[in-house]
Amino acid sequence: MTDESGAKRIIFRGYQLLTLQVDHQPYGWLADAALVTRGPIIEWIGPQRELPAYDGDVQIQEGHGRFLSPGLIDCHTHLVYGGDRSAEWEQRLNGVSYEEIARRGGGILSTVKATREASEDELFASASQRVSAFLKQGVTAIEIKSGYGLNLDTERKMLRVARRIEQHFPVHVSKTLLAAHALPPEYNGRADDYIDHICEGMLPALIGMVDAVDIFCESIAFNPQQMQRVFAAARQLNPQIQLKAHVEQLSNLGGARRAAQMGALSVDHIEYLSATDCAILAEHGTVATLLPGAFYNLKETQKPPVDALRQAGVPIAISSDANPGSSPVASLLLMANMACNLFGLTPEEAIVGLTRNAARALGLDSAMGTLAPGMQANLAIWDIPHPAGLAHGIGHNPCLAVYYQGKRIHQADEA
Ligand SMILES: [Zn+2]
Repeated sequence: MTDESGAKRIIFRGYQLLTLQVDHQPYGWLADAALVTRGPIIEWIGPQRELPAYDGDVQIQEGHGRFLSPGLIDCHTHLVYGGDRSAEWEQRLNGVSYEEIARRGGGILSTVKATREASEDELFASASQRVSAFLKQGVTAIEIKSGYGLNLDTERKMLRVARRIEQHFPVHVSKTLLAAHALPPEYNGRADDYIDHICEGMLPALIGMVDAVDIFCESIAFNPQQMQRVFAAARQLNPQIQLKAHVEQLSNLGGARRAAQMGALSVDHIEYLSATDCAILAEHGTVATLLPGAFYNLKETQKPPVDALRQAGVPIAISSDANPGSSPVASLLLMANMACNLFGLTPEEAIVGLTRNAARALGLDSAMGTLAPGMQANLAIWDIPHPAGLAHGIGHNPCLAVYYQGKRIHQADEA
């Protein structure tokens, strides 16, 4: 039965809640607890014995001691793209050099070519398969970047596909313009001219379609001054636009520091971040997003400065960086495992990185990423004996059910 507002209640009782709130036990763990949703929102949460009596015909879900957490959040993906890079990966393992692969038309520019040639429907169909894999593993919010078009029409096409994914799937999609991902071939040797084109042509045309603007700030892409120009142009067009940056992945150019000082929500990769930089991130409340899938696939050896981030109190998020080249990943839980085993995070830090801090990296922490009254009822139910089980397993999916805005959108097949 519905109440006077028409919003239906679901009572989840007999669960172990992982609230991921800051001021609770590790994981915000509440054993023998209950959670009540009303329409798309969490209405009540607390110990089972304090569950209020609700009149009428509410729906009851019995947990039998299972774990219930906020839906997971993937705060950094490039999952709209054309083509495939598995043959190129095979060539590399057969000893073909990066230079030779680039001469044969491989690398990121092969993805740019394939994405430019693909129709919007083709891009939507391939991206849909990737999104579905994430959703079945408890993901209820995902960020999608453009960045394989590198021209106005194709960047717009990619953002349209991101919008279609949000319309078609029960998932929140944050959309990010990453026109400054790489230098397009037609601007070879003219990086500043391409930055001019982004600031004067692409940003004015596309900023209304996105939540954030991102840039790849690295020796093989764009420098911190060029990043500053793109961010300033974006902020001039929309003072509320969020800023994000791929920084300090292969070297330390000082991009993270500058992005934080300009108010970036997150800086991502950051293997080469210094301890001084960590203090600057902390000062500006910038989230450090770690991308262990790219670290693993590129066989990197420089690890992000996890101890310095902890000591400085920088919030750490974990993401898939799902992309066709350096991180062909379709599992956020695998990223939690890699963040623990490769970077030394604790399982709790990794799960916080997929929920509360991932929400913060997207500016969504007042709506999702923790279980609390007033938050969106985005929930995942897990078949695990202990919360660390979310990060411990490799190649399995313990997700039993997913709710998005109070509606069940996925249920695992009964064994
Ligand atoms: Zn990326």
